[in-house]
Amino acid sequence: MSQYDVLVIGAGPGGYVAAIRCAQLGLRTVCVDNMVTASGKPTLGGTCLNVGCIPSKALLDSSHYYEHLTRHVAEHGIEVAGASIDVATMMKRKDKVVQALTLGVASLLRKNRIDVVAGHARFVTSAEVEVVSAGGASQRVSAGKIIIATGSVPARITPAPVDERRIVDSTGALSFDAVPARLGVIGAGVIGLELGSVWRRLGAQVTVLEALDTFLAPVDRTIADEAFKLLTKQGLDIRLGAKVTATRQGAEGIAVSFEQQGSSQELEFDRLVVAVGRKPNTQGLNLEAAGVRLDPRGFIVVDEDCRTAQPHIYAIGDVVRGPMLAHKASEEGVAVAERIAGQKPQVDFNHVPWVIYTWPEIAWVGKNEAELRAEGRDIRVGQFPFMANGRAKGMGETSGMVKMIADAATDRLLGVHILGANASELIAEATLAMAFDASSEDLALTVHAHPTLAEAMHEAALAVSQRAIHF
Ligand code: FAD
Ligand code: AMP
Repeated sequence: MSQYDVLVIGAGPGGYVAAIRCAQLGLRTVCVDNMVTASGKPTLGGTCLNVGCIPSKALLDSSHYYEHLTRHVAEHGIEVAGASIDVATMMKRKDKVVQALTLGVASLLRKNRIDVVAGHARFVTSAEVEVVSAGGASQRVSAGKIIIATGSVPARITPAPVDERRIVDSTGALSFDAVPARLGVIGAGVIGLELGSVWRRLGAQVTVLEALDTFLAPVDRTIADEAFKLLTKQGLDIRLGAKVTATRQGAEGIAVSFEQQGSSQELEFDRLVVAVGRKPNTQGLNLEAAGVRLDPRGFIVVDEDCRTAQPHIYAIGDVVRGPMLAHKASEEGVAVAERIAGQKPQVDFNHVPWVIYTWPEIAWVGKNEAELRAEGRDIRVGQFPFMANGRAKGMGETSGMVKMIADAATDRLLGVHILGANASELIAEATLAMAFDASSEDLALTVHAHPTLAEAMHEAALAVSQRAIHF
């Protein structure tokens, strides 16, 4: 049996980052992961690199280029005759991107002298796990400290059983071999909207069925309402208040029944994506043997510092409370490694940015207007539309706006919400500003290069005190 200072279970953005930081701090570290590629080879990087953030963004980028060519470049005087899409080539490129990055993780672990064990880990005692490889070989690993970073898996609903052929989850929707003529998506959350956008851009007629009446409930209403209009205009048929109750094999596809405003309706699709959320993954870990508890929703119970009930066992990332985001998992991984090494790190959970990679993109950090008003906060709001931004005009990307919310008395920024081209990059400025406890005045006093989309951030900051120049 091998004995280590730290055992990390899971090599996603939580686990592999934690392992690297542990090794940097001089701890003898091993990382166990059970993920395999479609061809059965062990792979590192977890959900994020293999079947999550990275492949979805690769397909969003490919489909974005295609839509640009077929719908938008004509106004620039560029004529493209006979643009077509070769799904197999697009998928090969996506797979290459994923492979390069997963191999990159493997080489980083090697460089940091971290032992990697491929297989499924299961607690035998609170300090020891048994790892069983895909081939059935078993070995025991023990360590003084253990970090559980086993992530999450797609949630399922009884009415739509996933067969990964016609009814798929997010993983299946990243690997279609052709553009489905009629695609149904259950769930208008982040994943449903991103994957729905990919296939709509490539020519599918996409219908999104969402049980809730509110579109993107966690998002600021100004941003969500405008995004709903834009996505609908692009051709995404989003049905709100539509709860899927059953699916069956129809005459020419999958017949999906749903209840909407008290009436039963049915639609037929060639393929159906179930994107109803994700659930923490603790399957087969045998946590009872470790003395680690789950909450009623299946998340491992941890304190602010990611400590479980066992002082030497930590849990991070999607398997614990908080947003299911790769960067949140990584930050917790770094913090736990440093805590194990005796340092006193802090993760700033109040300033975790969110991005939805539709086009335009949606990004935010901090609280939205409704949340702040519900708390009774006295706030000032500054808004600036990309329509009035010179760079956005030149790019032909005038949809959306920046909305900045500051405390009325102190002017401290409380939330920044963006709908627009490259919102995923623009949000970094707001995140930094809020992490440094900046005021809208601080951003207003910061010189922004011209012409840039970032000037919309500057103008929104000025707008908080009614000083926007260009609107
Ligand atoms: P994971 O990445 O899930 O890694 C856990 C690893 O542990 C896996 O490899 C798993 O196989 C392994 N494992 C589990 N149990 C065991 C066991 N018993 N023994 C050994 N190994 C085990 N987040 C973003 O921030 N940005 C995005 O753009 C984004 N896009 C997404 C798109 C899609 C389609 C999906 C599905 C997710 C997306 N996410 C995105 C979410 C992101 O992928 C997760 O938040 C992130 O991967 C969580 O990291 P983690 O390390 O906690 O777990
Ligand atoms: P997220 O949790 O952001 O990934 O979003 C998942 C979405 O799926 C949520 O908005 C849920 O309301 C929605 N959802 C869950 N079950 C159903 C269902 N049976 N029919 C339609 N939408 C659903």
